[in-house]
Amino acid sequence: MEIERYHIHVHPLTLNKEFDCDFCNESRKGHKFRCDLCNFQICFGCADILIKYHQHREHIEHSSHRHPLILLENTSNISNAKDCKMCLEKIHGQSYYCCAPCKFYIHKSCGELLEEVKHPFHPHHYLTLQMSGPWWRYHCCACGLKFDKCLRYRCGDCKLDMHPECLSLKPTIKCQGHQHDLLTLLEDMSYKSECRACGHDIKNTFYVRCVPCRLDFHVHCGPAAASLPPTVVHKNHNHPLSLVKDDSTLLECDD
Ligand SMILES: [Zn+2]
Ligand SMILES: [Zn+2]
Ligand SMILES: [Zn+2]
Ligand SMILES: [Zn+2]
Ligand SMILES: [Zn+2]
Ligand SMILES: [Zn+2]
Ligand SMILES: [Zn+2]
Ligand SMILES: [Zn+2]
Repeated sequence: MEIERYHIHVHPLTLNKEFDCDFCNESRKGHKFRCDLCNFQICFGCADILIKYHQHREHIEHSSHRHPLILLENTSNISNAKDCKMCLEKIHGQSYYCCAPCKFYIHKSCGELLEEVKHPFHPHHYLTLQMSGPWWRYHCCACGLKFDKCLRYRCGDCKLDMHPECLSLKPTIKCQGHQHDLLTLLEDMSYKSECRACGHDIKNTFYVRCVPCRLDFHVHCGPAAASLPPTVVHKNHNHPLSLVKDDSTLLECDD
């Protein structure tokens, strides 16, 4: 609402004007904190939260940003429409680290990813966290799927990439008859590969993979077939799966 000029002041005066808070991105009224030098302004609610967090929370140093970051937890009321600077996905009510002055935000889960890891799938080199490059072109060596986010672990020497989520995959199947003892039971409906033993396609089924050798086998064809444990636990299934021996070897859940 503008009060008519000249009667009170040479410039238009406004009453309780709405403003966009630079932290929660909401249109707000009422008290605000404002920097006149650069037009930075935040609503009272955000300022209150940020001040409390600055006072009571530890700051962390993180390689993704030159300033210390504070952790904001359970703050769905002020986490509107922020993009994580690491994975480039939206932050929807999850906990996140932030540098408020720079409008720099990252998911807590992204901030906690290790920069370098060693994994039994690639035991001789470190895999390092990558955030750039044409990630959509690469396949994860562990699960065989393409990347749908930019974050990945990579061995640059071997040009080998792995999903951060797939770090939790571990070689679980011991096998004689194969040098690595490193087979992993995987299940994927969209991945298509060829069984190195029988030469037929692998699709819509469980399969075992030796990641270091980049070899896939049907469960009943692979070097593991002779030594598959009677039951295995699979990441996509709550119950142990038991091996049923017949013409088409299946892994079945009894429940
Ligand atoms: Zn705000
Ligand atoms: Zn300023
Ligand atoms: Zn993220
Ligand atoms: Zn900053
Ligand atoms: Zn993967
Ligand atoms: Zn390597
Ligand atoms: Zn086969
Ligand atoms: Zn192997």
